[in-house]
Amino acid sequence: MPFAALACRCVALVAALGLAAPAGALESIRAQEIRECRSGEIATWGDGRDRSAYAAALSFTYNPVGAPPWFPEALVAGQVAKAAHAWSRCGVPVRTIPWPGKPELRPGLVVVQWNETESGGNFGLANFSRGTLSLGPKAFQLLRTRNPAHDASETLQMVISHEMGHLFGLMAHSRRCVDVLSYYNNSRGEKCLARGDIASSGVVEYRHSLPTACDIERCRRANRKSPLTGGR
Ligand SMILES: [Zn+2]
Repeated sequence: MPFAALACRCVALVAALGLAAPAGALESIRAQEIRECRSGEIATWGDGRDRSAYAAALSFTYNPVGAPPWFPEALVAGQVAKAAHAWSRCGVPVRTIPWPGKPELRPGLVVVQWNETESGGNFGLANFSRGTLSLGPKAFQLLRTRNPAHDASETLQMVISHEMGHLFGLMAHSRRCVDVLSYYNNSRGEKCLARGDIASSGVVEYRHSLPTACDIERCRRANRKSPLTGGR
């Protein structure tokens, strides 16, 4: 397959920063952006071309070998299931299955694993040719060292949802700040887009940890599904 690994500097940013979540009025604007995708709001950084999902029907399984000890198997498997359930609104059939104990060749099967090499030093990396979603132990160790008070399971959920989105065919990153497929700014100083003023609010983590309405809508377009109605 021509699509190789998709590195995500987007999620690497959180390790270097103190994390501040939005509060008050900004939080309610954010909640609205999560649940509704207005006409014209779908925008990307133009860094990839969306395509159909890794397979016509996807299965995800979680291999816990090599996981950092602060991420119990049940927690991570639960997050994989939560992300898969959220992405199912895209219209591509998806399910999660228990780890079979060894890699299996099964159409549409994606193994979620901890692998420093295959994560390429990132928090996460989706690999279309191997059918893997690799999580980076060192990146999460760094996050824990720099931000011991931060709930790293939130970041893990975001990384799993983000990388899963790539496997659903979203190759480009979103320019809408709240989308799980977003990143905040590029090397030219251009910023992501939001309804509220997040630039002056001091908020560092605005992105949602699960796919938003616009993530889902873009996924449906990439997979040639009809638009969802309501909430627009
Ligand atoms: Zn990415």
